[in-house]
Amino acid sequence: MPQAQVLRNRPGIRHEDWSQWPTIPLEQMESTFSVQQYIQNMVRHDASDVKKIVEVPEGQDRDLWRYELLRQVCQDLNNFVVLLEPECTASSCPEMKALEWLYLCAGHPNPQQCSALDYIIHTLDSATALLNSQKYFPSRVSIPPTSLKHFSNVTRRLYRIFAHAWFHHREVFTEFEIESHLYARVLYMIKYFDIMPDDALVVPADACMTDLPEIDRSSMVSDE
Ligand SMILES: [Zn+2]
Ligand SMILES: [Zn+2]
Repeated sequence: MPQAQVLRNRPGIRHEDWSQWPTIPLEQMESTFSVQQYIQNMVRHDASDVKKIVEVPEGQDRDLWRYELLRQVCQDLNNFVVLLEPECTASSCPEMKALEWLYLCAGHPNPQQCSALDYIIHTLDSATALLNSQKYFPSRVSIPPTSLKHFSNVTRRLYRIFAHAWFHHREVFTEFEIESHLYARVLYMIKYFDIMPDDALVVPADACMTDLPEIDRSSMVSDE
């Protein structure tokens, strides 16, 4: 039996030791939420290592891995919204735009036009609600095949948050990306799981603060 480890920062911890607990091998994590915890640990340990974080480890269920990656992205995006909030207001951004593209908010029974910040909050809330829904994702052990399509839809909508921030709030984008590498992680997910074609990726790859490994897309299996 592996020894149980308590993963928390102790009082008086030095800043450089913050969250630097050792990464536990996945097969040794026995709790129900092991995949989620494992991904969280990797992000805390080195958020810039997107290849390690995103790629499905050997023996892991691909769909379950993707599900947990996406849930983690939603969690981390909440921190981005906190930074964006003072900059992205109803008067600075009355519409959800990225350059000339205008996006309708799908967080309503009928898609409607929301201010950029409302769009971002509604999109994130509806993505989180969907991923936590008992109806579409009833178990943490396997993903129903009919729910797989939601991964791509959610990722595409979340991508627009980065697009808006890149084109309209560049400083906030960069400040957050340096620390979190969240855009790099999402971009690598999009490429690795073949979610969007390259010409739909409006944010340039050099928005990443870390080098993305090349992916041979011809070898990837797409959901659609
Ligand atoms: Zn804005
Ligand atoms: Zn809305």
